[in-house]
Amino acid sequence: MEYRGPYRVRTVEKPMPQILHPEDAIIRVTRSCICGSDLHLYHGMVPDTRVGSTFGHEFVGVVEEIGPLVQKLKVGDQVLVPFNIACGKCNFCKQGLFGNCHESNPMATAVGGIFGYSHTAGGYDGGQAEYVRVPYADVGPTVIPPDMDPDDAVLLTDVVPTGYQAAEMGGIKEGDTVVIFGAGPIGIMAARCAWFFGPSRVIIIDHVDYRLEFAKNYAYCEAYNFKDMEDPVVFLKKTTDWYGADVCIDCVGCEAEGNSLQTFSGKVTLMQAGTATALQWAINSVKKGGIVSIVGVYGPPFNLIPIGNVLNKGLTIRANQASVKRLLPKLIAHVQEGRLNPKGLITHRVPLEEVADAYRLFSSKLDNCIKTVLIPSA
Ligand code: NAD
Ligand code: ZN
Repeated sequence: MEYRGPYRVRTVEKPMPQILHPEDAIIRVTRSCICGSDLHLYHGMVPDTRVGSTFGHEFVGVVEEIGPLVQKLKVGDQVLVPFNIACGKCNFCKQGLFGNCHESNPMATAVGGIFGYSHTAGGYDGGQAEYVRVPYADVGPTVIPPDMDPDDAVLLTDVVPTGYQAAEMGGIKEGDTVVIFGAGPIGIMAARCAWFFGPSRVIIIDHVDYRLEFAKNYAYCEAYNFKDMEDPVVFLKKTTDWYGADVCIDCVGCEAEGNSLQTFSGKVTLMQAGTATALQWAINSVKKGGIVSIVGVYGPPFNLIPIGNVLNKGLTIRANQASVKRLLPKLIAHVQEGRLNPKGLITHRVPLEEVADAYRLFSSKLDNCIKTVLIPSA
């Protein structure tokens, strides 16, 4: 696929990716997903998203070619590829912070490299394609266990680790009330994973009824539509004896709103105006001394955080890109032993050629869509 500008993507023939470094591999993609993070790109909210780039950071496939220094993979291996591009050797990778790798994106101040996620995240082409170049091929790619369904494997590249890490960063303790904002794939997975930490209540908030219904069944949580509430913060206080939730988790990120394009700092980057409502609700409805865990992605215009309330309430805020590689061994075991069923989130399968329709569908939250898998024809 190829990005043409806000709300415009298409399929197009591109040259075959090449090995550019001896540690690269070329993967033939067999499945790739569209993520809520791709919607931020699609909505024009991520700086330096260049026309002509290929999105896609959730993919599995077959090793087609390896560079001369690759040792752990061989041609023909079926692999799942974490969305983070990580060198495995820098200070951050050594601490297990694979989402913050320094080498894969040295020009950025914070984020490590991410497949198909703009030049802010390293400028790598992504896997919503037939073939993709995978750097540091001995670090990220993991051979899919022979007994694992590739539909489960593709969700282990992002959704499962991100949902799990969202819950983990919340520091959930036994008996806690956990509130999750956003019943997309990430929020639903966070709700499901929250139960590993022993809370007494898991509540999910969204405004799309079919997603709330899905979350209730899939993640055994309470689910409420914020459109039915006068004020979600008051609602959440009321249901927690006016104390507030022990842990709030933001699985929404910036929401595109309207079509007004803004320029920032005189640069050519065009970005959409948007809102950070879920984050404001999370901060305002967590108890004093509580923890807010953020995995929802925000672009630079989102300095609307009620920072005074963070101070007055002595909150702990934890936020990060998920560290997929760190979590994979534990999460593969959860899937293999039946405690997690990632593929249960997949509602749509679309040929890669129909990528424009697939983005429209996922963006508009129609047709009961939770998670869409793109299938290349090669
Ligand atoms: P999604 O778009 O499918 O889901 C977002 C959900 O939030 C939607 O169902 C929407 O209706 C709901 N929503 C919108 N405004 C809301 C509000 N004010 N309160 C509650 N719910 C609201 O996306 P997704 O794939 O589930 O991803 C969710 C977020 O997680 C995105 O911001 C994405 O970029 C981010 N993400 C982060 C990481 C990471 O490593 N940190 C990884 C993957 C995704
Ligand atoms: Zn993703």
